[in-house]
Amino acid sequence: MNISIIGRLTGPKGDIAYQILFRIAPQFPLVKFRVIGGPVSPRFKKLSTKNIVFYGFIDDVASVIKGSDLVIGAGRVAVEALQLNTPILAIGEKQYVGILNKSNITQAQVSNFGDCALDEFHDFNQISHDLKKFIEHNDKQDDLSAIVKQYSPESILPKINQVYSHALADVVFTGHKEVAVLIYHRVVDVAPTNSKFNVYITKKKLDWQLGNLKKRGFDFVTFKDLAIGVKIKKPIILTFDDGYEDNYFNLLPLLKKHQAKAVIYCLGDRSIKSNIWDEKLGEIHANLMSDIQIKACHDSGLVEIASHGLKHQHLDKLNKKEARQEFKLSKLNLEQLIGDNVISIAYPYGAYGKREENMAYEAGYNFAIGTVNGPLHISDNYYAIRRIQIFPSSGKINFWKKTSGFYLRLCKLKSKDF
Ligand SMILES: [Zn+2]
Repeated sequence: MNISIIGRLTGPKGDIAYQILFRIAPQFPLVKFRVIGGPVSPRFKKLSTKNIVFYGFIDDVASVIKGSDLVIGAGRVAVEALQLNTPILAIGEKQYVGILNKSNITQAQVSNFGDCALDEFHDFNQISHDLKKFIEHNDKQDDLSAIVKQYSPESILPKINQVYSHALADVVFTGHKEVAVLIYHRVVDVAPTNSKFNVYITKKKLDWQLGNLKKRGFDFVTFKDLAIGVKIKKPIILTFDDGYEDNYFNLLPLLKKHQAKAVIYCLGDRSIKSNIWDEKLGEIHANLMSDIQIKACHDSGLVEIASHGLKHQHLDKLNKKEARQEFKLSKLNLEQLIGDNVISIAYPYGAYGKREENMAYEAGYNFAIGTVNGPLHISDNYYAIRRIQIFPSSGKINFWKKTSGFYLRLCKLKSKDF
C-alpha cells in the first residue's frame, strides 16, 4: 500500500509531516510512505528507511496522487486528490479532519481541508488510529464526485470568501453555547384585531424589547458583521422576514433610537408589492417596502438587507431549475438595488432540506436561515441556522426566557420547537 504525504516540509506543515513519519509510520512497516515536497532537511533525511521515501519536489504530482492508496494533505492537495478520486486524510496547519467521507466533507471544506480554522491540537493518537483503520479495512472511498464539481475555477472565489467568513463567525460563536436569532415580521402601530397568522409586534412592545436587550448588554449584530469578523462580546441577531413597509416606518426609527441593528429578508421579485402569499390564505393585506425604502434601510448602516427568495415559495417543492433561480436571482436583484453584497438568505416558511442548503452555498450565500429547526450550535451548520420566534403575546418574562441563553437547550430537553 502506498501512502503519499504531499506538501511543504517547513513550518507547521513540516512539523505535522515529521510527527506522522516519526511516530506513526514505524507502526506500519508494510506500508510505503512517500513524501512529496521539501526541502528535505537533515532531520527528515534521518527518517529515511525502507518504508519512508523522500521524492522532493516533483512536477507531476497528479500521477503520484493517482498511484497512491491514500493522500495525506490539506488545501489544494486535497482538492486535487478529490478530483482524482483518491482517498484523502485531510490534515492542515489548523485542524485535523480525518479520512474524508460524506459526513465530514462539509466541515473539511469550511476549513479548506484543515488549513483555515481556529488552532486545534493535533491528536496524533487519533491520526494513528484512523490510519490503522484505513489500512486494515481498505474501505472504499465515499463517492464525493458532487463535491469535486464545486471546484471549477469560476466557483473558487466565492468559496474562499465563504470559507473565511465561516472561520471568522466561528470565533464569535466559540464560547457561546447558545446565541439567540430572533424572528419577527411586521412592526405595527396598533395590534390588528383580524390577523390570521399574528405575524406582527407592536412598536411599543418592540421599543421595550430593544431597550431591555440594550440594558442587558447585548451587542446587536448582523450576518454581515459576522462575516467580516467584528469583535462581539454578547451577540444577539434580530431578523425580520418579508420586508414589510412598516419595517421602514416603525422599525427603522426604533433601530436608530436604540442604535440597534437588524437583518431584513426581502423578496427578490420586485414586482410583488404586498403579502399576496398570505392574503390568499385569509391574512390581512400588508404592503411590502418599495425599492427606495429598502435602499434607505440599507443606507442607514443599521440594516442588513438579505434575501427571502424571489416569490415567497416553498423552495423544497420547486424543481431544481426554479429553486436555483430563487437563490441566484433574488441575490442578484437585491444586490443591484442596494449596491452591496447580499450574503444571507432566509428560506420562506423555513422550508428546506439538504438540497436547498447546497443551493444556498452554491449561489454564494455565506449564511442561510430557517425558522425553528436546525442545530443548537449555529456554527454546526451555517446553512441551517435556527431562530426563536417572538409572538405578539410574548410577555416580559417570556421574552427574557427566549433571550436568556439557555432557552434552546430547554426546548431540546422538552423536544419542543424553538
Ligand atoms: Zn416569509
